Amino acid sequence: MDKKRTLIVKHPRLRFIRDTLRQAIINATYGQLKVIDREIRKYPSDEEKNSIPLIRREQDLRRALDASTCKCPACGSKTSNMIFNTFDKAWYCISCYEEKHEWYKTHPHSTEHPDAPNPFP
Ligand SMILES: [Zn+2]
Repeated sequence: MDKKRTLIVKHPRLRFIRDTLRQAIINATYGQLKVIDREIRKYPSDEEKNSIPLIRREQDLRRALDASTCKCPACGSKTSNMIFNTFDKAWYCISCYEEKHEWYKTHPHSTEHPDAPNPFP
C-alpha cells in the first residue's frame, strides 16, 4: 500500500465488533507465540540450529502483528482508529501518528541526515 490511509469507525456497535475481533486476533497470535516458545525451549542449547525454523515463524508472527491494524506499534492501543504510515509501512493510532507528525514538523533536522525524509509525512 503506497497511500496514506485512515481507518475510522464511528458507529459504537461496529467499533465494539472491530475491537473484539482485534482482541481475538491478538489473543490467537500470542497463543501461537506461546506454543512456539515452548517448542523452542525443548531443544537443548547444542541443538539450537533445529529451532531456527521455529524462531523464524515466531518472528514472522510478531512482524505480522506489528504490521496489522490490530494494535498501534507505538503505544499498543487496540481500540483506536488507525492511520497507515507510508514511510515505515505500519498502522499507527491517530494520536500517536499526529504526535509524531507534529514533532517531526517542528524538528526538521531531527533525523540522522539533514535531508532525510520525514518518517511521518
Ligand atoms: Zn498509538
